[in-house]
Amino acid sequence: MRLKRHQKAERNINFYCVNFGFRKPFQILVDGTFCMASAQNRVQLREDIPKYLGGDVKLLTTQCVVLETEALGAAVRQAMHIVKNFGIHKCGHEKKSISGANCLMSMTKDNMSTRYIVATQDKSLQNALYNVPAVPIMYFNNLNVLLKAPSPITIEHANEKRQSKFNLTEHETNVLTNMKSSITTELISSDEHKDYPGIFQRAKGPNPLSCKPRKKKNIEDNIPKVEKKTKRKRKRVKVPKHVKEELKKQLTNL
Ligand SMILES: [Zn+2]
Repeated sequence: MRLKRHQKAERNINFYCVNFGFRKPFQILVDGTFCMASAQNRVQLREDIPKYLGGDVKLLTTQCVVLETEALGAAVRQAMHIVKNFGIHKCGHEKKSISGANCLMSMTKDNMSTRYIVATQDKSLQNALYNVPAVPIMYFNNLNVLLKAPSPITIEHANEKRQSKFNLTEHETNVLTNMKSSITTELISSDEHKDYPGIFQRAKGPNPLSCKPRKKKNIEDNIPKVEKKTKRKRKRVKVPKHVKEELKKQLTNL
């Protein structure tokens, strides 16, 4: 079954949230080409993107992007107005600006910790970002804003990250084993464990599952017996030695 646009977006953004710690408000770095597309498609980015991603967003750009868009002149005037509405994020090129694409590339080089989403129509920038782990790419497909599915390199990094969570160092393993043994001894020495013989102690006696079921006692057994007043005492008859020997002899002769 084909997933709807919003379901796909939810699935993709959840992937970044779970694996790389992306959270709301999502920070979206926008370039001039994306703003141009939004102007052409008459899409209000501030309204449409939060609805699409299902959460608050911060639309940001950089000084390099603004300067590049300004330099293009009247042809992209609408895009320039849109891009200037967004917050300007420090990019480190304040003294000497670079191209918008290179600026956004440098902003996302460590995106597993900075966690930006890049919104661009620039195909070469999209392709370059596709090879950088953990960079979600947003673009216009006709009238709709779309979030690209995570790239293979991003999925690979997510798997590695997940696995590394369970790979403990030698020191961590030692600390954990010490903690475990101290907790166990503490529990065994305390009185609490007596309620749980199955966990800390082995039940004494044979395994009840391997035994035959007990026979039901007769009703008579349950009736208390009346004790007799006088008990008969057994009298031991002592046989003298010479009689014993005589008997043995007789038995051997037989
Ligand atoms: Zn810059």
